[in-house]
Amino acid sequence: MSSEQQLIDMLRSVVSDELILRSNQVAALDPGWDSGNTGAGVAVRPRNTEDVSAVLKICNDQSIPVVTHGGRTGLAGGAVSTPGQIIMLTDKLQGDIDIDPMERVALVSAAVTQQALQEAAAQHNLSLGIDTASRGTATIGGMISTNAGGMEAFRHGMMRQRLLGIEAVLADGSVISDLTRVPKANEGYDLKQLFCGAEGTLGVVTRAVIKLETADPESSTTLLAVPGAASALNIMRTVQQSGGLLLCEMMWHGYATRVARATGLTNVLSFCEDAPAYLIVESSLNEDSLLVLLEPFFESGDVLDAVMAKSKKESADIWRIREDSQAAYQQLENPALFDISIPLGKLDSYMQDLQQRLGQMQGDIELQALAHLGDGNLHLSMGRDDPWSDNEKEALGIAVEYGVKEMGGAVSAEHGIGLDKLDIFERNTRHPNLQAMAAIKAALDPNGILNPGKVLSAG
Ligand SMILES: Cc1cc2nc3c(=O)[nH]c(=O)nc-3n(C[C@H](O)[C@H](O)[C@H](O)COP(=O)(O)OP(=O)(O)OC[C@H]3O[C@@H](n4cnc5c(N)ncnc54)[C@H](O)[C@@H]3O)c2cc1C
Repeated sequence: MSSEQQLIDMLRSVVSDELILRSNQVAALDPGWDSGNTGAGVAVRPRNTEDVSAVLKICNDQSIPVVTHGGRTGLAGGAVSTPGQIIMLTDKLQGDIDIDPMERVALVSAAVTQQALQEAAAQHNLSLGIDTASRGTATIGGMISTNAGGMEAFRHGMMRQRLLGIEAVLADGSVISDLTRVPKANEGYDLKQLFCGAEGTLGVVTRAVIKLETADPESSTTLLAVPGAASALNIMRTVQQSGGLLLCEMMWHGYATRVARATGLTNVLSFCEDAPAYLIVESSLNEDSLLVLLEPFFESGDVLDAVMAKSKKESADIWRIREDSQAAYQQLENPALFDISIPLGKLDSYMQDLQQRLGQMQGDIELQALAHLGDGNLHLSMGRDDPWSDNEKEALGIAVEYGVKEMGGAVSAEHGIGLDKLDIFERNTRHPNLQAMAAIKAALDPNGILNPGKVLSAG
């Protein structure tokens, strides 16, 4: 392993000194969601694609591993770094947000945050088509690299569907540049898609062309208490059929009440405190039209009760309960996080079976669950008083993954694999599929310098 000074000397041979961060400067960075992110101790802050290329070339020549960082909001350990590695910070990569409202595309640097692009698009009455609670910090480079999904994915797709063109630097410093601005481009293998969800293991994304959508119209927020996912899905489809559904998020009781208490917003749930689950419907329909649609669901028992936000503050409070997942998560002892997708019709039975499997395990396990309902994407957090042994952690993963692939779901939905999901991913992926991925990795990064050990354990 190279010493800090050796790594700094190597970097100084290709970029100017002020772009290199020493261990004391790296330690002062906010590590983000995972305290292991800043473990490497040395970082480089390239200003442009040429700097990225020069750094990767010399790291490749000297077999020094590089871990790329965007906003460090990733939830799968994909940005974790260790001593002897170099962190590639992308936050200072130059480039304006260049929007063409007629084409409805944006050319952006990987450093641009989700929110900055959302706000720039809004000035043209356009939208990014993706929204996550990490919007203020997550970068376009990180969102491409994790194939981010979020709350609008059921309408507009994930990052993969937004990506028209890419510029990325490969391990040997060569630059793949395909800044195509049009959706129809059948020009051989679709290289840009390789970087989508690759979590920095195949190259460093420096620029991208992103497809934009028409901005959403004025909307209202309704919070519904529901008995379960089947009811929530019926409501969702009905509002969607009317053309007025913008967002549809579900929270099970344990999660919603934890956040409400932690944020001092218990009043938001007081209209129906004991509901098994809550559904947030953001809709462009006026109040009367929405009530007409919901009426039969009150009669059938699919809606236990409901409240419609009467002000921006009431709407923001409802959304705070959905988005402040950290407030709930922080109250869990020994938390374990999962992010899976279940075919919609199986959501209720999956949740019931999961509760049963957890009940058979040691200790009193608290389960917090929420869903991007339209995608069947469940975020599950579990905790208990006693720490998990390695065997118990594996058993927990097996309890979560049970039957998921067989029913056509996915064991990682939108957060990626990183380090944290390697075991569940490799257990549930066919050997030929893993071999094909390893062959792509070996072809593009033969020395294995790019984010080694992430996505593929042997990578
Ligand atoms: C409160 C909260 C809510 C969230 N909600 C959602 C959600 O609804 N949907 C969702 O999909 N995710 C969600 N996330 C997860 C996270 O925001 C996304 O994974 C996001 O895309 C990560 O972007 P980032 O810039 O922070 O990347 P980082 O965390 O810095 O990096 C993530 C991975 O991408 C790699 N990487 C970063 N930049 C580049 C680059 N330029 N080139 C190559 N590789 C790169 C890193 O090496 C790492 O493997 C949430 C996170 C939080 C904290």
